[in-house]
Amino acid sequence: MLRSSVLSKLRPLIRHYSSEATAGPLGISFSLTEEQKSIQEMARKFTKDEIIPVAAEHDQTGKYPWEIIKKAWELGLVNTHVESKYGGMELGVLDSALISEELAYGCSGIQTAIEANNLAEAPLVVAGNDFQKKKYLGRMTEEPLVASYGVTEPGAGSDVAGLRTQAVKKSDGSWVLNGQKMWITNAGHANWFFVLARTNSNAGAGNAFTGFIVDADTPGITLGRKEINMGQRASDTRGVTFEDVVVPAENVLGSEGEGFKIAMKAFDITRPLVAAGAVGLARRAMEESVRYSLERKTMGKPIFNHQAVAFMLADMIMGIESSRLMVYRSAWMRDQGQRNTWYASMAKAMASEVANKCAADAVQIFGGNGFNTEYPVEKLMRDAKIFMIYEGTSQIQRLVVSRGLADLAQSGATTLGGF
Ligand SMILES: Cc1cc2nc3c(=O)[nH]c(=O)nc-3n(C[C@H](O)[C@H](O)[C@H](O)COP(=O)(O)OP(=O)(O)OC[C@H]3O[C@@H](n4cnc5c(N)ncnc54)[C@H](O)[C@@H]3O)c2cc1C
Repeated sequence: MLRSSVLSKLRPLIRHYSSEATAGPLGISFSLTEEQKSIQEMARKFTKDEIIPVAAEHDQTGKYPWEIIKKAWELGLVNTHVESKYGGMELGVLDSALISEELAYGCSGIQTAIEANNLAEAPLVVAGNDFQKKKYLGRMTEEPLVASYGVTEPGAGSDVAGLRTQAVKKSDGSWVLNGQKMWITNAGHANWFFVLARTNSNAGAGNAFTGFIVDADTPGITLGRKEINMGQRASDTRGVTFEDVVVPAENVLGSEGEGFKIAMKAFDITRPLVAAGAVGLARRAMEESVRYSLERKTMGKPIFNHQAVAFMLADMIMGIESSRLMVYRSAWMRDQGQRNTWYASMAKAMASEVANKCAADAVQIFGGNGFNTEYPVEKLMRDAKIFMIYEGTSQIQRLVVSRGLADLAQSGATTLGGF
């Protein structure tokens, strides 16, 4: 179906859904709306038809999944947060999480390449002005393009305060960027970058950095080689060097010194989506394992009937269901305009660890076949690891979560967490 007809079909439904949301939540509901079910169904069908058949090839060759990104873009499965006034679908985080889970079920490397657009765009969603949104988010809806979020550097990932890329203001108000970014997803194909740079060497982290939108064809930008990673090999990860790169004043996001907060707030949108991707991978590992264990026989019976195997499967589904609930809660909170940082970190840490356990247990259940590339689960095990690293490692999520507990206790809250 053509993009325009998909958009015209979905928009009235989304408006209807939004008007329901503004009426206020009626209490806990564990059902999806009809609109959400159609989004999920579309993403599931797309994954089955377009991603699963080519996932192994992309894993083996590392070929960037342009053809899939273009088809996903046609269906409105990319750039989901962009407001309708800039040509986008204006989906909520929960709607987007449904898509992420489905895409990652097929190949989390391809899902990461698609998800990286949401990550690059999130700082603009959080802090962009009308001009910036129209120019840079609008562009993403006019043709299939990708963008990158450039924060990490060779010397600093978790320690964002330690970033060294610098931006210096010139007398005409424009800025000159110098520095090096590392591990930037989509960098080799990006049309523009969100870049976090130090603009004040004396201030603390909260005021020392500014966020910039940088066109990828600006002179002075050099791309590194495509990194050969353990997994998610369809995704393109590179270093990017900025050498006297001139950025116009109009490309400063928010105000000078606000960059750190903008870069972190973006995670409120994207961490639930990374977690949703991990759930998708975990679900794939579980489904492959259940099917295999019902077929494969040892000692005269399907291995499913050995309790040691069945209990691994039970642990898988328990982890998946609870992680998905964390994803939905953290996404729903953001959609309701509530602060979700704490829950997004819990969802991200939990779902990524569940995905790793499910993938490792799937390899175990497949036995020797699990270790072989002819079967799908060894890829899942390689792909899963990065979920515990990018967008904040599991340790950094636990920092956020544990600090949140202390803040709650010190604020005099009667209960810590819960409803
Ligand atoms: C495939 C891939 C794609 C990526 N995509 C992007 C991207 O698009 N944009 C981007 O900006 N970045 C991206 N990253 C970078 C990623 O976010 C960082 O690698 C990650 O945040 C960790 O930073 P680091 O590698 O510097 O590890 P370090 O920060 O050096 O951490 C090393 C270890 O120390 C632990 N640690 C560090 N500090 C603490 C602490 N205070 N308490 C407890 N433990 C701690 C960490 O948890 C980790 O286990 C990507 C990385 C990869 C590998």
